[in-house]
Amino acid sequence: MALLLLHTCCVHCVAYTVGYWRGQGFEVTLLWYNPNIHPYLEHQRRLEALITFSRSKSLLIIADQSYDPVKFFQAIAGYEAERCQKCFHLRLLRAAKIAKEKSFAVFTTTLLISPHQKHQLLKEIGEIVAKETGITFLYHDLRRYYSESRHQTKVLNLYRQQYCGCLYSEWERYSKAGRK
Ligand code: SF4
Repeated sequence: MALLLLHTCCVHCVAYTVGYWRGQGFEVTLLWYNPNIHPYLEHQRRLEALITFSRSKSLLIIADQSYDPVKFFQAIAGYEAERCQKCFHLRLLRAAKIAKEKSFAVFTTTLLISPHQKHQLLKEIGEIVAKETGITFLYHDLRRYYSESRHQTKVLNLYRQQYCGCLYSEWERYSKAGRK
């Protein structure tokens, strides 16, 4: 069975995605690497929810806790309007490098199930990272299963985030000025 490293943005996107890739014949390991989530306590809440879920489902997880918001802000500095592109690249590049180091056959991300993400851009960045690292990026549009994924975690009463992750997204979510 081919080994798949699944970059994981949050537990609610993991639930359906894991089952989907297992159904395609892959042995799935989760990877947590999200320095884009601010502030730190929000990052920890989301990680704890994922760990609780992965224990309940006996899922393997690599939790990269080298939380480094400086790296995130350096990556997007001067590109704030296109920050998601830099953010995707930062996270997927890390996922691809870990996949390569640990001899996974392929990598992908749970972000592909979210209708709130820039889907086409995500696909493009995944393919760019695949070329940069020489490891295959698995693509499938899973957005139609987003509600099903969230439904699967609802019964577990796990923490649910209210914004994408970075300070900008939190500002856009809660402030009138941010939404302009
Ligand atoms: S909005 Fe989300 S995807 Fe875009 S930069 Fe912020 S955390 Fe990353």
